Amino acid sequence: MSNKQTKWLPIPSVAEGMGNLEQAAAILRKGGLVAIPTETVYGLAADATNPQAVTSIFEAKGRPQDNPLIVHIHDIQALSGPSREIPESALLLARHFWPGPLTMILPKADCIPSVTSAGLDTVAIRLPSHPIARALIRQAGIPLAAPSANRSGSPSPTTALHCLHDLEGRVDAIIDGGPCQVGVESTVISLVGKPRLLRPGAITAEKIRSLLPDLEIDPAVVQQPPPDAQVASPGMKYKHYAPHCPVFLVDGPVEAFPNWVNAQAAQEPGIFALCSDEDLPLLHCPALSLGPLADGKAQASHLFGVLRELDEKGAKKAYARCPRQEGIGLALYNRLIRAAAFHIIKI
Ligand code: AMP
Ligand code: MG
Repeated sequence: MSNKQTKWLPIPSVAEGMGNLEQAAAILRKGGLVAIPTETVYGLAADATNPQAVTSIFEAKGRPQDNPLIVHIHDIQALSGPSREIPESALLLARHFWPGPLTMILPKADCIPSVTSAGLDTVAIRLPSHPIARALIRQAGIPLAAPSANRSGSPSPTTALHCLHDLEGRVDAIIDGGPCQVGVESTVISLVGKPRLLRPGAITAEKIRSLLPDLEIDPAVVQQPPPDAQVASPGMKYKHYAPHCPVFLVDGPVEAFPNWVNAQAAQEPGIFALCSDEDLPLLHCPALSLGPLADGKAQASHLFGVLRELDEKGAKKAYARCPRQEGIGLALYNRLIRAAAFHIIKI
């Protein structure tokens, strides 16, 4: 792997960061790699139309070659660049949810090389709402391919320091734009054929159904795909988001979780609870909270930071409270079940 001098580019706001923004845009135009803040998680950006640049994303992340990348654009008009056909449903969703954390799978145009779409005839497209991400795409003048800026398999980065930890020496620059607001990756929906939710996110299935009532949810959102299954979204077959310490999801009545974990802690030294604020005073073992039980948005924004903290604190094993599979809770469940390698304990 190359040994790059990773530049640290603080950009507190678009207005204050013009010089650094232009530096980052110049690196991208030359085929380099820049970790950038978005409202979901930090992205590892490169020119989506440049096969060499895109190949270097896969190398820097250690990402499997068959896992396609999301192409980021800076306004709705730019949709007709990477996509050769835009169905009415895409325009409807774009008008409602863009800029924002929604990715749409559409037929791919020829300007997007097959390495970006991992050989598929479709392409994933998103218009992020983060002002720095949008200003950078506009400034660079090219669509940016940007998967999460972590080493493949580890929790997605929600701060610039997470990117530095995973990718120092592997990328040309990291833009520090502060912590990400949403904290989980974008909702992914396929609009090739019947609308299908491939990955849940902050734009919830319920919100999309209010516009597209026939939305289907891909079974791989909540279940482990069988080993050789053809999955609609290649990313869903890989182990993901995992800290080094093993994680188990604990599913049962709301009030049962702290007592069950306390009983477990009496037998197993070194365990941690991944819990809600309400559990903290009731637990007798080390615990990390995602936020208040009823605040799914807060829980999502803390999830990946807390998964990283488990390793920093030397947790031997973690028992996580199982989220309810509705609203943004479906996104939390989808990430946690993969962090837990699909291990669920029913209590
Ligand atoms: P990441 O950029 O790491 O957040 O992952 C992007 C997600 O979108 C992965 O799960 C990919 O498998 C999925 N994806 C990207 N492009 C396509 C596509 N053309 N068809 C289906 N899924 C896609
Ligand atoms: Mg990722």
